[in-house]
Amino acid sequence: MAATPTPLEVRNIKKRFGDTEVLKGLSLKAHKGDVITLIGASGSGKSTFLRCMNLLEQPDDGDLIVHGEPVRFKVTRHGREPADRRQVVKMRAKLSMVFQGFNLWAHMTLLENIIEAPVHVLGQSKKEATEHAYALLERVGLTARANAYPAQMSGGQQQRGAIARALAMDPEVMLFDEPTSALDPELVGDVLKVMRDLANEGRTMVVVTHEMGFARDVSSKVIYLHQGLIEESGTPDEVLRNPTSPRLKQFLAPKY
Ligand code: ADP
Ligand code: MG
Repeated sequence: MAATPTPLEVRNIKKRFGDTEVLKGLSLKAHKGDVITLIGASGSGKSTFLRCMNLLEQPDDGDLIVHGEPVRFKVTRHGREPADRRQVVKMRAKLSMVFQGFNLWAHMTLLENIIEAPVHVLGQSKKEATEHAYALLERVGLTARANAYPAQMSGGQQQRGAIARALAMDPEVMLFDEPTSALDPELVGDVLKVMRDLANEGRTMVVVTHEMGFARDVSSKVIYLHQGLIEESGTPDEVLRNPTSPRLKQFLAPKY
């Protein structure tokens, strides 16, 4: 039986900013359908780790293998950087990111936001991309807002729109960086619902989140980061219900 390539594998990623080593050797393997949640205190390196996965930050060391294809790096006097920009574009198309802030382009309607990359990166026709966009808008409950501009939408709608835009690339892996942290509490549920649906459909996802209910219910694996290292990882049962690290126990303890 031919093995399908692993969607994403990260080996021993290191990253420093100036004198500070922020990531001290992190590895992760996302098999098809895995939902991996990254938890940890503010400043532990979660965003940097995620950003290294799609090369928004350049890892100083370590390997990145996307759908079986290793990213090629070269060393210059500025440090290490990807050897082939075209490979980066191709790879990013397989790893769509949804950020904490709402990153829809302000000067475009929601529909235009969604079809932009499929048309310009994947070379789809406008008609094909638009049809697909409407199917995605229906899934995230935003059909009626297709022609709205981001400023006319609530934060929750913008975030669901950003998820639809990410899905339009039919990515191998979806990366989420605290997608609900900037939302008013009453808007969080709709966004989590969309993410739960994606998880249940078998989407491969890496999610930075403080939503422990989400982490407990949908993760295949939970990774707890502390100061740029994996302090503990395992199933939600192991990590969230039976943590062994005292730091993790404290992190999970009710605050009030
Ligand atoms: P988290 O997402 O877990 O809160 P981050 O990955 O954002 O953590 O940050 C980890 C550490 O790296 C923090 O100490 C932060 O100040 C530092 N850091 C992040 N990005 C930069 C940057 N571009 N330049 C310098 N330091 C940074
Ligand atoms: Mg962060």
